[in-house]
Amino acid sequence: RKLGYAIVGLGGYGLGQIIPQFKNCQHSRLVALVSGDAAKAKRVAAEYGVPPSGIYDYNNFDRIRDNPEVDIVYVCLPVSMHAEYTIRAAKAGKHVLCEKPMALSSKECEAMIAACRQAGKKLMIGYRCHFEPTNLEAIRRARAGEIGKLRYFRSEHGYTAGDPTAWRLKKAMSGGGSIMDIGIYALQAARYMTGEEPVAVYAKETTDRNDPRFREVEDMIEFQLEFPSGVIGSCMSMYSANRNQVLLMGDKGRIEMEPATGYSGQRLWVGRGRENEIQPPPGPGRNQFAGQLDHLSQCVIENREPVVPGEEGLRDIRIIEAVYQSAREKRRIALKA
Ligand code: NAD
Repeated sequence: RKLGYAIVGLGGYGLGQIIPQFKNCQHSRLVALVSGDAAKAKRVAAEYGVPPSGIYDYNNFDRIRDNPEVDIVYVCLPVSMHAEYTIRAAKAGKHVLCEKPMALSSKECEAMIAACRQAGKKLMIGYRCHFEPTNLEAIRRARAGEIGKLRYFRSEHGYTAGDPTAWRLKKAMSGGGSIMDIGIYALQAARYMTGEEPVAVYAKETTDRNDPRFREVEDMIEFQLEFPSGVIGSCMSMYSANRNQVLLMGDKGRIEMEPATGYSGQRLWVGRGRENEIQPPPGPGRNQFAGQLDHLSQCVIENREPVVPGEEGLRDIRIIEAVYQSAREKRRIALKA
């Protein structure tokens, strides 16, 4: 059978990107919606064939426990709400897919992992690039040694933030600025492209605090990651320019992606420059979104751990906390193994 998903939060991502993808899934279907806007929920339910019994709001959400159609709750809410809804979903006996960044703090991440473990439920983080064919092919070629011994990694990730009143620019709701939202893709890529865990970070923040968008959160933050093999990771995150690129340099060549982590249109080059563009083989799903949804369904069906479990989200949040500390204290921060 196809496992049933409840989508919590009918915003840009939940409604705009995820809900339309169930038609591309083999093991997943949409069975419930959780929204604070009853009229919107009703309209979306009608459009996607969700029965009225599958519509919840934030107050009666816990009743999802009594809905056997719902196997997995997908949390597509502002970051400050991730921990609460993940924990409530686990207590309601549901598996959880939670959007990135996992939560406001590593403490919250630990509580989410504990709640899902205690309930005997899976917890996966919405790191969709692990299901995206171009990224998977880039990882495969790096691991196969095609560019020789790895030397350094570089990534720039950013976009231009708009509305100063948006939750992403409110620290209490977002946990921080560009690194929480978009720089996290550079951090993730540094880890999956090198296949190593950083041992130390050094960071520098540059933000115009007179810009109404950046009263509470950072705009640009540049961070270096030291990896055990000697590979250096160098990442730039920003809310004031559009950039989406990954470069992995080895002593025999380079792997480059641009755009690297967008919703679509990824391009990959392997070699000395950009003379050799690679067309990756198909990924695990019709696209990265369907691949991600079906991965968790299959993990539940076969009782396997997801490739991006809660621990993976926690690792990134711990590193981000060290990045912020480094920028604040203007010194290198060693990471605990
Ligand atoms: P959004 O603002 O478009 O949607 C957020 C939803 O939460 C809205 O439906 C809003 O009504 C609801 N909500 C409930 N309570 C709220 C409150 N108190 N304040 C504000 N909104 C509230 O945001 P989004 O872009 O859909 O982001 C949602 C999550 O998805 C975030 O964690 C974000 O990081 C993540 N996201 C991931 C990707 C990806 O590619 N993986 C892309 C975009 C967003």
